[in-house]
Amino acid sequence: MTMDFRDRLAMFGNGFPDHEINDRTMKITFKLSADELGDEEFAEFEEPHDKEFTLGFTWEVCGSCDGKGSYVNPSIDAHGITESEMEEWDYDEEERYFSGGYDVTCEECKGRRVSPKVTNDNSPGYRLWCSAIENHAELVREREHEIRYGY
Ligand SMILES: [Zn+2]
Repeated sequence: MTMDFRDRLAMFGNGFPDHEINDRTMKITFKLSADELGDEEFAEFEEPHDKEFTLGFTWEVCGSCDGKGSYVNPSIDAHGITESEMEEWDYDEEERYFSGGYDVTCEECKGRRVSPKVTNDNSPGYRLWCSAIENHAELVREREHEIRYGY
């Protein structure tokens, strides 16, 4: 069974490199360690220490919560709720479910409802931002595989 995307977010985070957002200047600043930079990109730099990058960005509606800022706690309905399961709920439970009483803060946007989308300016920083996200996704796939097969 594949992992619910909300469990995945809770376990592995949203994959963005550590960053700071300035929504007055619409700039996002992030740091990568020498390790995270990797060999190829690292060759561009002389000293093996953290490098800081600044990129422009726009806000886009968070795709994990569809801009709600929250979603139902995956422990409640991660793999769907069947009709018979719902029949066992009492009125209060049902009411609570549909009124957002089981909601938790969205792990992707942290309740902000929007997610930063960095602007492609063809800079090394942009490429590194994208590859950090891809590397994270790759790591998550590997970890999930390991978890599923129990080691
Ligand atoms: Zn969200």
